[in-house]
Amino acid sequence: MPFLPIIKPHYTQSPSSSSDDSPFAYAIAATLAFTLLVYIFESYLNLRQRSSFFKTEFPKELASTVGAIDAELKNKPNGTTSEETKDGSSNDETKKEEDKVDKSQPLLPQLQSKFSKAQSYGLDRISFSIISSLYSLIEECAFLLYGFMPYIWDVATSLGSNKYGWTETSDEIKITLLFLGITVIIGTITSLPFELYSTFCIEKKHGFNKQTPGLFFTDKLKGLLLTAVIGGPFVALLLKIIKMGGPHFYIYVWGFMFVFSVLMMTIYPVVIMPMFNKYEPLKEGKLKEEIYELAGRLEFPLTKLFVMDGSKRSSHSNAFMFGFFKNKRIVLFDTLMDQTHDDEILAILGHELGHWKMGHTLTNFVISQLYTGASFYCFSLCYNSHELYRAFGFNDESRPVPTIIALLFFFQVIWAPIDKVLSFIMTMHSRKCEFEADEFSVNLGMSKTLQSGLCKIHLENLGAMCPDPWYSTYHYSHPPLVERLSAMMKLDKKSK
Ligand SMILES: [Zn+2]
Repeated sequence: MPFLPIIKPHYTQSPSSSSDDSPFAYAIAATLAFTLLVYIFESYLNLRQRSSFFKTEFPKELASTVGAIDAELKNKPNGTTSEETKDGSSNDETKKEEDKVDKSQPLLPQLQSKFSKAQSYGLDRISFSIISSLYSLIEECAFLLYGFMPYIWDVATSLGSNKYGWTETSDEIKITLLFLGITVIIGTITSLPFELYSTFCIEKKHGFNKQTPGLFFTDKLKGLLLTAVIGGPFVALLLKIIKMGGPHFYIYVWGFMFVFSVLMMTIYPVVIMPMFNKYEPLKEGKLKEEIYELAGRLEFPLTKLFVMDGSKRSSHSNAFMFGFFKNKRIVLFDTLMDQTHDDEILAILGHELGHWKMGHTLTNFVISQLYTGASFYCFSLCYNSHELYRAFGFNDESRPVPTIIALLFFFQVIWAPIDKVLSFIMTMHSRKCEFEADEFSVNLGMSKTLQSGLCKIHLENLGAMCPDPWYSTYHYSHPPLVERLSAMMKLDKKSK
């Protein structure tokens, strides 16, 4: 590799340098080159997206699409909404919501009135991510060049041996946990200014943030405690399995990861989510009846229906579902209930249940399991390439290469390019699923209410109204609003 220089970290475990004729001697240079390339490409996309937020004219395509929806909503033809349409109830709701945006007015003027706000929010967010990604790049490169990992590992080792008499060979897991603890604390401290700025400057400026500093720090503390309580035993077990599993350890790791993810999916909503938010059953009434009716029609085993106090932290809105087999729950953010009509919520749930009915939820679970299996299989092939880790400063031949270090370098160096490609494919796949779920809701006869519901969520969340096509292709897990609306309108035309 004559075009890459041999770079050695400033801190190494041993002054004796590892052999320069190994191909791994170029590992640091190759990692830096890849990181830099990704950074340049993603920065280019960021700048493209940033310039889209300087547009002052409301996008024509969106105007004509939403204008057409408004026209159709005005002379609502029979059968566009489900049989349980709002007759009397919409009047009550309009009255209730008069103090907020007038939701009975056509969608286009509503969107247009939020356009400049959405542009300024988008501009602030993208400018922030340009700065924070530059910082991440500098941090990552500095850590590699300095030899941050071997340095922290040695700090953890000497701490452990001085205080408790630990040795690297017999107490590797304990030293690993200490090492990870130090790394997590450093990571929390360095990312804190960015999180504070994002929450208390940008989100606050645009009226989204509802968090007090007290709540912010309690959340942080709870998060760290959970990382220690769940992450600690998880890492300890994972390392034990890798060490004891022999040459085919990846099979056992795979099984372990499967059990762990099922366990997490079970306890997360029941134990962890309630530590951060309040979940109250949706109050009796028309909406509740309609949701149960919809679930019944789709044979969705809905056991619990909650409203979550999302407004405690942010006025961004959402809805989601979770649970296994015959025990499914749906959660609506209280913010969503404020921002939309009941029939729009129903159409949005029609979309969400579409994901379930069409097997997207299961497919994603299977894909993530395959991904885990593949990554650990590849890791098993590299596990013993000690020269790789020596290149990063773990070059004391008399000491074992810690398993956690092998894992971290594998994911940072070898797996990172594969991961970039795979996650791009997954983003594209996710957009395809979104279109399918929209179609599902349309086929339930909720096309118009889904369209207006999506418009309202979009304008309330100040979503980008004219995103850059390259940026959205690369980053968006959901297709841009105008694409979803036009796809649904095409379906409407077809069915007529
Ligand atoms: Zn979706």
